[in-house]
Amino acid sequence: MKAIIIREFGPPEVMNLEESADPKPGRGQVTVEIKAAGVNPVETYIRSGAYARKPDLPYTPGTDGAGLVKETGPGVGTVKQGDRVYLSGSLSGTYAEIALCRETQVHPLPDNTGFAQGAALGVPYATAWRALFQKADVKKGETAFIHGGSGGVGIAAIQLARAAGLHVVGTAGTLRGMKLVENQGASALDHGASDYIDQLRTLTGGRGPDVILEMLANVNLAKDLAVIAPRGRIVVIGSRGKIEIDPRLVMAHEAVVTGFVLFNATEGELKAIHEGLAKGLADGSLRPAIALEFPLALAPSAHEEVMAGGHYGKIVLVP
Ligand code: NAP
Repeated sequence: MKAIIIREFGPPEVMNLEESADPKPGRGQVTVEIKAAGVNPVETYIRSGAYARKPDLPYTPGTDGAGLVKETGPGVGTVKQGDRVYLSGSLSGTYAEIALCRETQVHPLPDNTGFAQGAALGVPYATAWRALFQKADVKKGETAFIHGGSGGVGIAAIQLARAAGLHVVGTAGTLRGMKLVENQGASALDHGASDYIDQLRTLTGGRGPDVILEMLANVNLAKDLAVIAPRGRIVVIGSRGKIEIDPRLVMAHEAVVTGFVLFNATEGELKAIHEGLAKGLADGSLRPAIALEFPLALAPSAHEEVMAGGHYGKIVLVP
């Protein structure tokens, strides 16, 4: 098979498409013929060598993907050859024609969801689900502010929050991104505008949002603390640096500031997340938006694109 191989940490060009041995499933494992692989920002941090978790070199990047079960190992009972599945992790990396997975890392992909859409589920939708239901414990009728609504996690969060009966406001940095946010049933604000936090206050009748999902905390956490509703919850999902905040705002709003890294979720928490996603896929409320599809060999361009602005949903690689 062909796979992207990284032999040293560095810029996007360290990713090369190479010939590699086909993986074989052991006990409790399956191989999946990858039809699309999801590109997440974290894969760029890991590739650069700047991330706390570093894989042994050489390695194939990627945790998300969707495709057809190719082979099952002994003891596998939940899937069979030819099944449509999406991946929430793999043992061998998903930027490849074939990925080796534990049985628990593959989940049914319904016919109403394309392979590129399936590749958007593993990290983005699971992250959004965990933020809303396992961290913020959202309730029907509350208002959620998705601070960074036009990317992979943001679109997922808007769809999940709308399906749970919340009022949703999401931000984007372009008119096109704002339109995408609105198309998911949310009000849209421009996080590049100087008065967008005032606009958010107005939209929420002066009260502020009950819940904020924050994609860029090093830029926005101080603003979030200023606008959060009394007893609101702020969930830090993404941050790329440090920020100074006024802790008195946490006290004054009796706010909860929490955060998480999806990698830390337990098997039980992951099971609940993927059961929740299965319901949303079945009833049609979850419809991943695909911005761009790149051939596998152009993984370096996909990494540059995912770190650029102007997001419009998810970027995927197609082997
Ligand atoms: P993505 O697809 O690259 O989207 C990035 C989003 O951030 C876009 O909506 C972008 O909007 C927005 N953004 C840019 N500048 C912003 C600003 N000043 N204020 C608010 N939003 C801004 O990334 P993603 O996959 O959705 O992930 C979002 C972040 O969460 C990343 O930092 C990622 O590393 C992190 N993450 C964390 C976990 C976890 O386990 N904690 C899991 C998944 C992702 P425009 O492009 O329209 O400006």
